[in-house]
Amino acid sequence: MPGVATTHPTPIFATLMNASFLTKNCQIVLEKKGGSNYSKLSFPLHCGVFSEISSASAVLHFNLSGEIIRAKGKGNEWGHPHEWLKRTKGDDWVYYSTGGYAGVFESIGEYYLPNFEYPTNNLLGGHPFSEKAISGLKSSWHQTLTQLAENITDTPEPVHRFLVNALSNSPACLAKKAQRLQEIIGGRISVLPPDARHVDYNLIPLTISQGCLHKCRFCKVKNTLPFRVKTAMEITYQIGCLKNFYGADLPNYNALFLGEHDSLMAGSDLICFGIEEAYREFGFADSHIAEHKTFLFGSATSLVNAPEHLFTNLEKLPGMHYINIGLESADQDTLDKLGKPISVGLVQEAFTRMQEINDRYGSIEITANFIMDVGLPANHYPAIMELIRERLVRTKPKGSIYFSPLTFNQPSRARLFEFNRLKILSRLPTFLYIIQRL
Ligand code: SF4
Repeated sequence: MPGVATTHPTPIFATLMNASFLTKNCQIVLEKKGGSNYSKLSFPLHCGVFSEISSASAVLHFNLSGEIIRAKGKGNEWGHPHEWLKRTKGDDWVYYSTGGYAGVFESIGEYYLPNFEYPTNNLLGGHPFSEKAISGLKSSWHQTLTQLAENITDTPEPVHRFLVNALSNSPACLAKKAQRLQEIIGGRISVLPPDARHVDYNLIPLTISQGCLHKCRFCKVKNTLPFRVKTAMEITYQIGCLKNFYGADLPNYNALFLGEHDSLMAGSDLICFGIEEAYREFGFADSHIAEHKTFLFGSATSLVNAPEHLFTNLEKLPGMHYINIGLESADQDTLDKLGKPISVGLVQEAFTRMQEINDRYGSIEITANFIMDVGLPANHYPAIMELIRERLVRTKPKGSIYFSPLTFNQPSRARLFEFNRLKILSRLPTFLYIIQRL
């Protein structure tokens, strides 16, 4: 596209929704309307409003800020027509594979298995990024876009504007933006709650507290910061910066992550303040995505200390609230071995509280994580079974239990077999926790 000048990105007007333009080399659809619900389907349904360029070799998706968010190859070299690459706001590329459909849904509660380039604790999956078609598309999408644009002449103004915007968001520019996000929220989010799978991890992070209480020895995602609660003023400022940062693409979000590792400890007033301010400022009520959701982490300590009025207050706020608690084990020897400085009595109390809250409040779901690994003390799994099976008189649809493999980068059939056995016996929805960052 000769003569395309780089200008400040301008959002395309809503009246262009689904406008389609056919050129010699590709088809461009501006502001294509995807799904409004993150439904769990066996075929890919992409949510929100995005623009699409489809050529003979690839399909590229861009958000309302003109930033690439997805890419998929065409032809025999691309593994499966349902598989795709996603780029996150933290500028990671994630490859979504069907996993051959073998037990993916049963294991993680989703039909598509995320594969990462960074080390994580996934028990399933292969090495998709070592495949030429996948790594090639990841590294060449901008060059492909440039070549397509160079061959497009006489474009209508909206297409011209879209291409200028998309081209200006080069890989270097996107990496800088990811850096800016970290500056706003006070560092990289090293882990997101497993419940964030309900929105495919598409959420806006808002840090209301930093650090965590326990600094457990086994934990690979902690930081060295002592636990600290942010002030209301700091949170308001952060919301303003995030609003600017997400800009034209804000309507594609309707989910919030209250960071970071133990926001439940921040107290009722600050939690509700963060949710209400974010809901208003980010315009979640007018989102392209239905059903607002908030996610946060808590600990056994913060859960048992949380006053009842926190939950009655949360129940009055819009949407669902998912609070994920790291319990890790219900066996003292295992807790000691993990270097988790809490007692088994506290874990049991937190588990009981979790059941009470899940039974009492329709819009709150407390979920819990337990560790999986080889060589844990013999009572680790029996003690968990006592909680998630023996204590419950019947199966429950709410209050998911996540098993988190301790070892990174070691997919294992034996661990998967072990997990399936636990899942069958559990009276709560039970899944594997694949650690994902933002
Ligand atoms: S498991 Fe939770 S409490 Fe323990 S160190 Fe990690 S983030 Fe902190």
